[in-house]
Amino acid sequence: MTARLLEGKVFAQKIKDEAREEALALRTVLGRMPGLAVVIVGEDPASEVYVRNKERACEALGFFSALIALPETTTKEDLLAEIDRLNASRRIDGILVQLPLPAHLAKSAAEIIERIDPKKDVDGFHPINIGRLVAGETALVPCTPAGCMKMLKLAGIPVAGKRACVIGRSNIVGKPISHLLLAENATVTICHSRTEDLAAVAREADILVAAVGKPRFVTADMVKSGATVIDVGINRIAEKKLVGDVDFDAVKEVAGAITPVPGGVGLLTIATLMANTVQAAKMRVEK
Ligand code: NDP
Repeated sequence: MTARLLEGKVFAQKIKDEAREEALALRTVLGRMPGLAVVIVGEDPASEVYVRNKERACEALGFFSALIALPETTTKEDLLAEIDRLNASRRIDGILVQLPLPAHLAKSAAEIIERIDPKKDVDGFHPINIGRLVAGETALVPCTPAGCMKMLKLAGIPVAGKRACVIGRSNIVGKPISHLLLAENATVTICHSRTEDLAAVAREADILVAAVGKPRFVTADMVKSGATVIDVGINRIAEKKLVGDVDFDAVKEVAGAITPVPGGVGLLTIATLMANTVQAAKMRVEK
């Protein structure tokens, strides 16, 4: 059997089309398109690529985008003052601070994220939004997990009543996607580095999410026949070679549906950032 390929570009396009449509409808109320501010400190090459892609996505949808590139030497106080300015700006609906921060700011990351107005926190990392997600209330939800859930819905893959297994318990992927699956009535198990007999737990899953950060960690013997396998991992194994957390070639012979890497979940993340920016703008209008 060869699994159905869940191509990120197909779902990302649908998410972006919907975001643009909603933004255009919102423009009649706001008198402008939604606005996203991206703050980057220092010159991390990978972060610069991500930030450029976010700007491009804004441009493609006609959103307003503000790139605030601050020097490596920026102090915590200066960064907090910048966030305060963006919180107060009427033109900006969404704010994100690109992570990782330079070493001298990384230790204050929690304080910096908490300074963002939760209503503009399009990354969904603010404790208020995390709390709302856990409580099952409307929240701005981290983009990668939210994008995966949207993909399941658009692909018509049922979640309610199904067994889901999430490998990884990070705050940006593993935990939020577990709560989102639970909110959609899956029975969710979270695995991590201390889980005993992880393969047996994974094999129970109808929906298996890998967010481990280890190349080809999920092998075919860990996958139930016909399961949906979502590979969040992005691992660079050679100069130009990216692989996921799933042994794609072997697992696709067992799974019912599978996301590739590259070309899978990665594309959903920025599309969902656009959707979150629209959601943030909407929440301000409704307020
Ligand atoms: P983290 O490193 O923060 O978390 C990894 C998780 O995997 C931890 O919970 C860890 O367990 C668990 N883990 C590590 N080794 C094992 C093991 N041997 N057995 C079981 N569990 C293990 O990573 P992230 O969640 O931030 O990211 C995961 C992957 O997803 C990475 O490859 C990252 O690059 C990618 N990613 C992709 C995105 C996208 O847009 N597609 C966005 C964000 C991330 P423990 O808690 O016990 O240490």
